[in-house]
Amino acid sequence: MVDSVEIPVITSEQLGAFHRAKGLKNAACLRCGNVSWSLLSSTEAPVSGLPTAKTEERAEVDLFTPILTLTCRNCGTLWFVAAQSVLDWLTETREQGASGDAG
Ligand SMILES: [Zn+2]
Repeated sequence: MVDSVEIPVITSEQLGAFHRAKGLKNAACLRCGNVSWSLLSSTEAPVSGLPTAKTEERAEVDLFTPILTLTCRNCGTLWFVAAQSVLDWLTETREQGASGDAG
């Protein structure tokens, strides 16, 4: 039995801001060059999880890496982003009281 994990919602706007802040130079699909991605179906990004291998030390935990999944709207290539990286950045940004221009 595993407790559920609480993961805050990350919006597509927050993900975009994260990528801009990190200096993402190219958002084109590596396979087809398309620049249009969908983040599942809504403006709020649901977090999925990649299964993680268990070891003897952590055999009783269902381990997974929380991810955001973008899908190339042209060819379907998947682009995974570690949700924790975005959450860490959001926390740092809030702590710094960054002057946002949201809204
Ligand atoms: Zn593509």
